[in-house]
Amino acid sequence: MSEIYSLLKNKIEELKKNTKYFIAGKSQLGEDIIAFEIGSRTDKTILVQGSIHAREYITAFLLIEIIRYLKNFEIDGRVIIVPLANPDGVRICLEGYEFIEKKEQKEIVKNILKRSDRKLYKANANGVDLNVNFDANWGQGASNFFDYPWYENYVGKYPNSEVEVRTLIDLTKKVAPFLTLSYHSKGNVIFYGFEGQSKKSKENEKKYLEVIVDKTGYAPIFTQNSTGGYKDYCLLKLDIIGFTIEVGNDYLSHPIGLEQLDSIFNRNKDLIIELLKVK
Ligand SMILES: [Zn+2]
Repeated sequence: MSEIYSLLKNKIEELKKNTKYFIAGKSQLGEDIIAFEIGSRTDKTILVQGSIHAREYITAFLLIEIIRYLKNFEIDGRVIIVPLANPDGVRICLEGYEFIEKKEQKEIVKNILKRSDRKLYKANANGVDLNVNFDANWGQGASNFFDYPWYENYVGKYPNSEVEVRTLIDLTKKVAPFLTLSYHSKGNVIFYGFEGQSKKSKENEKKYLEVIVDKTGYAPIFTQNSTGGYKDYCLLKLDIIGFTIEVGNDYLSHPIGLEQLDSIFNRNKDLIIELLKVK
């Protein structure tokens, strides 16, 4: 196992010892998708997920630090955090295909990595880009790719075809958050809104967006030409406000090195607490 993946696994195991958690589902290769739970007010929940894109695994490390930080506070609400929504993809990005035991997925990933750079891998073990696989105007994004499994942008055979996608949908329905945050890298921007969202969510999202801009200093951008993402699904199908937060300077290359973690953490650590204060 690569140094970084084993570090990530160890940090999650460490956290499990002293933090409330549950297994939200299993990845394509059978890895647990773990949800940590802080606070107990089930009527006031924020759901946060990271690393749905494999090469953006710095967001998993970020969310682990945020969980540890939040435990120092009595929070007025509940936060459900999934640091590693795409465990198989992250391991592929760090190690390649050799560790994969399932024949079909091993072949898929081996074929992709023959013609692409492992370090840029975004997809899951089926070569599906999970953040374009959600059933929210699926297949209508400008960068969508339909032909075959690929390291990025392949939408899958049909909407919600991937187990990691269905896991996040089931989890969201189960914990019924009023707001979701999706952590990605990079660009220091916040994507908000989605064509077809309800008037009510459009009106409500403003006050939360203001807090995110204020706390992080990232620039807000209305979502255009991009579909099938988790926050798109939240807005379009569940009428839940969602934001995608892209951390890290745009001049950094993928995957962003862990030496950036401290500065990214400092810009994001208090965000959830502030969002829970919004009336
Ligand atoms: Zn991403």
